[in-house]
Amino acid sequence: MSEPLSLVWLRRDLRLHDNAAVYHALKSGRPVIPVFIFDRTILDDLDDRQDRRVEFLLQEVNRLQDELAKMGSTLLVRYGKPIDVWKELISQYSIADVFTNHDYEVYAKERDKTIGKLLAEQDIGFHTSKDQVIFERDEVLTGKKTPYTVFTPYSRNWKEKLTSFYLKSYPTENYFNHFWKTSPEKALTLQSMDFKPVGESFPARTASDTLLDHYNQTRDFPALPHGTSQLGMHLRFGTISIRDLARQAKAAEDTTFLNELCWRDFYFQVLDHFPHVEKHSFRREYDEINWRNNEDEFGKWCEGKTGYPIVDAGMRQLNTIGWMHNRVRMITASFLCKHLLIDWRWGEAYFAKKLRDYDLSANNGGWQWAAGSGTDAAPYFRVFNPALQAKKFDPKGEYIRQWVPEVDRPNYPKPIVEHTTARQRAIDTYRKALRKG
Ligand code: FAD
Repeated sequence: MSEPLSLVWLRRDLRLHDNAAVYHALKSGRPVIPVFIFDRTILDDLDDRQDRRVEFLLQEVNRLQDELAKMGSTLLVRYGKPIDVWKELISQYSIADVFTNHDYEVYAKERDKTIGKLLAEQDIGFHTSKDQVIFERDEVLTGKKTPYTVFTPYSRNWKEKLTSFYLKSYPTENYFNHFWKTSPEKALTLQSMDFKPVGESFPARTASDTLLDHYNQTRDFPALPHGTSQLGMHLRFGTISIRDLARQAKAAEDTTFLNELCWRDFYFQVLDHFPHVEKHSFRREYDEINWRNNEDEFGKWCEGKTGYPIVDAGMRQLNTIGWMHNRVRMITASFLCKHLLIDWRWGEAYFAKKLRDYDLSANNGGWQWAAGSGTDAAPYFRVFNPALQAKKFDPKGEYIRQWVPEVDRPNYPKPIVEHTTARQRAIDTYRKALRKG
């Protein structure tokens, strides 16, 4: 086939509506084919071959395939390492330009550099856009033109900048007739990638109509089934547009919900500007902490058998449905780092394996916050008391009983550590490390 094409490479932006890269590709003046790659570099590392994220991705890829088929076009779906897939695509198609959206993770930036170089060698344009966040990179900086390292002043500046200009949708629909006309390709299966279905349904793509009326009052109570949006997974894979969501929150004047979206942007820019956070403490002196790293205690934390009901409820919720309420993420993470003195990276990796809305930037930010090593470090001597947290945020014990039905029975385990002793041990250990650092 000789007609030069534009390819649009979808990654964390699985939608045709309001997508910056899709828009720019469709306006390029050439027929457009979207491509999605199931990246083996990532998939081969997943030990558990029943993975909600992979299943969700396949479901969404098939949905896009159906949408494109209705327009007489197709999505090219490939399974392999991006470099190999791109070499093959270059040999198969006459490609003039490739369009894609920015990705801020270290692995992704390196991948895009490699693919950009390969394309440049073939004289193929590589055009990248902001799409995943509202403000990226250097768009929200301090007065000294440096990245923010504390959330509150960042969020003030972010909110001041949040005009309707930044929330405008890309009207891709106007150009859908520019998709290349061809018959749809055969779909991939989970089995062909060596995965098995989990067989669950996933959260709805839209929040309930009333969410923004009550979010600021319900968001901290894990027993409420619709107290938060449950949109994390859709934001993670771009099956909804962040601009659409922020526009709704702004119109509803829901500053609490907007604030959460601002945290999301904040952690993306932290990862982008300070890539060392992926492996190290944001504040380097916290890498001096002498973690106990007791494997038996870590196992009990993972299984939800610590004898602290709110911690156990959270871990069992995570293990069962691949999601945990934000308040409980904070409690379980703090418990691991402070009460058990286990390296936050162990907990971070466990969440990364299990969370259906796993996102490196937010997960890393949340864990470093809990460990006190991150941007918005709470003072190290402030240690969450799980019992008080439970009393405040699950006052009737409904959430706990949902996930730990045996909580009042004799077979429920005794607490793995005593709160006051563990608290003091954490403070002493942190103090020692920070004196050294
Ligand atoms: P809602 O309360 O409805 O919020 C709407 C959206 O705002 C979320 O979907 C998310 O995209 C964003 N958001 C909300 N809170 C935060 C936050 N604190 N930081 C960044 N973005 C936020 N969030 C993830 O998306 N992926 C993760 O892997 C992740 N890991 C976490 C680990 C720890 C230890 C902690 C304390 C928090 C983590 N969070 C993570 C943040 C937060 O817990 C989840 O975004 C939220 O619970 C998802 O549920 P929801 O979609 O109902 O959120």
